[in-house]
Amino acid sequence: MIKNINIPTLLFTMLLFYSKTLWAGAGFEVTVLGDRGGIKDGNLTAFLVRAQQDVNYLALDAGTLVNGIEVAERKGAFAHVTIPKESEYGVVGYILRDRIKGYLLSHAHLDHVSGLVIASPEDSKKNIYGLANVNKALSETYFNWVAWPNFADQGKGFKIGQYHYVDLPIGQSQAITNTSLKVTAFPVNHTVETGAFVIENQGDIMVFFGDTGPDSLSNSVDASTDSSKENSRNLTKIWQYLAPKVQANKLKGLIIEVSFPNETPDKSLFGHMTPKWLFKELSKLEQQSGGKGSLNGLKVVIQHIKYSLKKGADIREIIKSQLNELNNLGVEIIISNQGEQIQL
Ligand SMILES: [Zn+2]
Ligand SMILES: [Zn+2]
Repeated sequence: MIKNINIPTLLFTMLLFYSKTLWAGAGFEVTVLGDRGGIKDGNLTAFLVRAQQDVNYLALDAGTLVNGIEVAERKGAFAHVTIPKESEYGVVGYILRDRIKGYLLSHAHLDHVSGLVIASPEDSKKNIYGLANVNKALSETYFNWVAWPNFADQGKGFKIGQYHYVDLPIGQSQAITNTSLKVTAFPVNHTVETGAFVIENQGDIMVFFGDTGPDSLSNSVDASTDSSKENSRNLTKIWQYLAPKVQANKLKGLIIEVSFPNETPDKSLFGHMTPKWLFKELSKLEQQSGGKGSLNGLKVVIQHIKYSLKKGADIREIIKSQLNELNNLGVEIIISNQGEQIQL
């Protein structure tokens, strides 16, 4: 039997396997610290992302921080982490202080920043990245010596100086200090100024959307908006940016919100998605990326499903089955779950 093995073919196969392993090294590891969109504290929008070849994390929103790190630790998400002997911290403190190198914030709503504010007295010096108005809102609303001491290096009163705000320009790539990652910010449709972020690692990209509604409902998110105003093109512009990356096989996945099931009236969405609206938006990306089948296998991680206090209905299950029913794009729907890891 051995004689039948063709040595050049064997070598070629090994080389292919090796290069695929190397190629896979440029992706992303995502740890879910919080997956819900409100009501219940302890599990609100927050993710850690790191380049596969790097040990340092960037936090994507921080609705839940310490509780999320604890849950993820119990589920083995940090099994690869070795704490240096000289560190006086346990795993949770070490991840918070030494491995998270910055916070990338979509917007300043409480369910996206409360974990960061609450953990700040035990945190270490690092950058907070966001659109200029998001950083301004964080500074004026929380780090103002009224809601909380000013842990930042700008804003009201005495500045503790632990956090430095980095205002992200729209559409321009910016390096994230002490990580291998770069980020490009885009505005999206929500009740307050909100960013979505294209995150890059050695040419591979993923996209994080905190909260967003579809382009065609952007008028309804703000009561003061003139209803004759045209629809927003915020998501359309992101899909245009992403289309060539899809075609070049560089887009590794999206993290995006679906807050409510399809039955929710459009006027009650307030800058959020239902499964129906998400697929309407994703089909625009498919069209621009080369048409039918171009998003086949793309990982779409769902976050921000609202927690319901009503008896009976399991909103997660309803949204999951609605997403699967509507999925005529061949994308891989992943419902995010606190503490779990996702490879993109
Ligand atoms: Zn939210
Ligand atoms: Zn929000």
